[in-house]
Amino acid sequence: MDKKDKILGALFGVACGDALGATLQFIDKKTGECNFGYLNNIIGGGVMRLKPGEVTDDTMMTIAVAEGILQDKSNPIEFIGKQLLKWYDENPKDIGITDQLSIEKFKLYGNWSEASLKTYESLNGKTNGSGSLKRCLPIAISYENFNEMIGVTSRQSYMTHQSRQAEEACIIYNSLIYKYFHGEEKMEALKEVLKKYEKYQKVLTMNKNQLKPYGDVTNTLISSLYCFINENNCENIICEAVNLYGESDTVGSMAGGLAGVYYGFNALPDRWIDKILIRDKLIIIGEQLNRVVN
Ligand SMILES: [Mg+2]
Repeated sequence: MDKKDKILGALFGVACGDALGATLQFIDKKTGECNFGYLNNIIGGGVMRLKPGEVTDDTMMTIAVAEGILQDKSNPIEFIGKQLLKWYDENPKDIGITDQLSIEKFKLYGNWSEASLKTYESLNGKTNGSGSLKRCLPIAISYENFNEMIGVTSRQSYMTHQSRQAEEACIIYNSLIYKYFHGEEKMEALKEVLKKYEKYQKVLTMNKNQLKPYGDVTNTLISSLYCFINENNCENIICEAVNLYGESDTVGSMAGGLAGVYYGFNALPDRWIDKILIRDKLIIIGEQLNRVVN
């Protein structure tokens, strides 16, 4: 499989998981199952009244990170910030409280460290959400040097989330994306990465009914990892993730990013790809990223 297939797989995996899962976000499981059965088609709607194929913050912030890297790969943080501000000023339907506050505070203070610190104070230290995790993927496919990749991953997390827990989740996720992008085997790479992170190792032995696909960044990452390791094709991985409910778009998009980079673009269902409204934009970004990597 070539790198372009993996890059497009990663980007469209995120978008498909997001567009599919957003229908179920903020809906309780009982009501959702009654209305949608086992959701496996991208139909839009939901609390945000999305068009079929419309994506949310998970994909749009991922694009912002990719565009920031494309503008200056050696020093991307300010450019990622500019793209996040541009997206925010378009009044997104879906945005997490920590991202929203940090972007607002950046507008006041003009400095991301200061902004995320003020957000940490405003939220009494409760900045362990998934905001920085859901957008970090493009970093893992853009940097050849692993340590440089981890450094940028960490700095982008602290732009909005003053949280060691959020930083750690981003590092685990991007270490995996990096390894799969470079052709490593699924379980071998996962076990290697999780060696250093004891609280994540339970995902290897958990039951589905023990998952908590909501709340903090650790819960959402464990839920997406669980679906990735317990299914063996893109469609089943992403469907399992969104049908957990909770933060279905985020868990779906993160599981989708893993599945897409591992199995490649052609392994994603055509009926989903055809629905994604920003399909052309994602293809252009994928081609630009492919040139940056090669
Ligand atoms: Mg979302």
